[in-house]
Amino acid sequence: MQEVYRRGQGMRRNVLLVDDDQVSRQIMANIIGRDHDVFHASNGQEALDVLRDHGQRLSLVLLDLLMPVMGGYEVLRTLQADPLLRRIPVIVLTSENVAEVESLQLGAVDFIPKPYVPEVVAARVNRAIELAEDRQIIRETERDALTGLYTHDFFLQYARLRDRYESGQSMDAVVININRFHLINELYGRSLGDRLLRSVADVIGRFQGEKEGLACRSGSDNFCLYLHHREDYESSLLPALASLGERLGSKKITVRVGIYPQVDSSVSLEQRFDRAGAACGRLRGRYATECAYYDNALHEKELHDGRLLSEMDSALSSGQFRVVFQPKYHIQGARPVLSSAEALVRWFHPVHGAISPSEFIPLFEDNGLISRLDHFVWTQAAAQIRSWRDRFGFSLPVSVNVSRVDLFHPDLESRLQEVLRLNGLSPSDLLLEITESAYTNQRFNLVETVGRLREAGFRVEMDDFGSGYSSLNMLTSLPMDALKLDMGFIHNIASSEKDLHIVKLMLEIARFLSVPVIAEGVETEQQYALLKDAGCDIIQGFYFSRPLPPEEFDRLIERELAARR
Ligand code: C2E
Ligand code: MG
Ligand code: MG
Repeated sequence: MQEVYRRGQGMRRNVLLVDDDQVSRQIMANIIGRDHDVFHASNGQEALDVLRDHGQRLSLVLLDLLMPVMGGYEVLRTLQADPLLRRIPVIVLTSENVAEVESLQLGAVDFIPKPYVPEVVAARVNRAIELAEDRQIIRETERDALTGLYTHDFFLQYARLRDRYESGQSMDAVVININRFHLINELYGRSLGDRLLRSVADVIGRFQGEKEGLACRSGSDNFCLYLHHREDYESSLLPALASLGERLGSKKITVRVGIYPQVDSSVSLEQRFDRAGAACGRLRGRYATECAYYDNALHEKELHDGRLLSEMDSALSSGQFRVVFQPKYHIQGARPVLSSAEALVRWFHPVHGAISPSEFIPLFEDNGLISRLDHFVWTQAAAQIRSWRDRFGFSLPVSVNVSRVDLFHPDLESRLQEVLRLNGLSPSDLLLEITESAYTNQRFNLVETVGRLREAGFRVEMDDFGSGYSSLNMLTSLPMDALKLDMGFIHNIASSEKDLHIVKLMLEIARFLSVPVIAEGVETEQQYALLKDAGCDIIQGFYFSRPLPPEEFDRLIERELAARR
């Protein structure tokens, strides 16, 4: 900031001098004319005309108070009410002390008493310009250009100030996020996305304004509020946020709100908003505008998660992670035929026992650790394929889960190739499962990445299909070799006509895309029969087998080979 001003120093500015007394005006013009260019006006009305025509170019107004036609107070009031002209600083020229207070209250930045002392005048004029320019620079950098809210950095600074001057006040930290914002952009266009962001800012700006809180936009569709503790979020903030979709033309838009009430003042500001964010994160994937509170249970969970994260390294090296294999069967022939297997990781923790992947995978995904775990699983899977080939002369492709985090690694392909090379395998031996939501989150990068993997010979299965938000339109452009129906769809097909119908529709879609369908989570004979009937190609699920440790899978292969003979 200093740098910018110094660059501007010595540069002549435009100053508007308003005084009906011609002699006084001339004296003043002589003084400031040495440093700046002077516009003249002899009453308030003339001054406003100049301001309207040249306001953008003016750096300062020197304003007499008592003038014919229109006095200085009126000019001050008009400037204050005008959002564009308000930024121009005004120094009042006065000979009476009483006027000073009132003009400062009306927005003047300073006053210069008559008679003029040239050095004092020059110094005060230059100082006022300098301060106003600094303030302008701060105003421009402290605000987010799209929404006009504070940027995250300034927000934290002001929150810190607030803490210092209002210590003892009970404060709430609030985080607000728009559900599936990337899809809103994609479905309705960026300009609606921008309007939505401005509308959210509008709502929370007004909300915090009522309670004199602070608000910022801290990231793309993420907003923070810091305000005095209150209990009425459900009845005040939520309804206002819930009506956003209506305001934007009946769009289905929902927002999630995380609240860390009555923050613990011994934890850092950043951490307070992390906690509000953790509460907010609990609502991810929901379909309504809701709020969640950071409470003890969440705190415990965070501690537990933190411990799991810190233990991952040693767990990896001490063999607590093991890979199990679940068979997939081709079911459209005379008898089901083992076609491949999925490698799934298991964590056998010395204290907590078996921990479910759905507990630790999202955790590791959030901070990138998943890549190392996935690499471990790929390595185990490749070694297993090799070992089965050597032992049984039988090549069973194995699918591994490729987390969305892996997809951002520029060396994803070479890491996979290396794993294969070490085991003398080729890309067609390893199937890659990529979850549908990874596609819909980052479609554009992904289409390219997945395309390259397929060109290299890998086959890609879209996992959890139906749980994400691929539009039909998207689907046709997504590269893949098979669709894995999300387990949720299979669950009720035997009891619900509607669910069965949906599964049949998805099978139609897959046929249209010419890709085979894998149904996972198939548990019963009935489900199996219905799926076979509907033309589903491959099935994975407890009906055939649970995920098995390698030794047990050996026996399954033996049985398979015996059946083929
Ligand atoms: P997924 O990739 O969709 O895996 C299928 C899940 O369904 C597995 O759960 C499997 O054990 C379970 N399952 C299979 N058949 C049935 C059935 O008939 N009924 C029921 N109720 N469940 C069945 P699991 O092993 O708990 O894994 C959960 C998720 O964790 C996986 O979903 C996958 O997204 C992730 N995951 C597991 N292992 C890895 C891994 O090595 N890397 C990555 N990135 N993710 C993994
Ligand atoms: Mg999978
Ligand atoms: Mg799946």
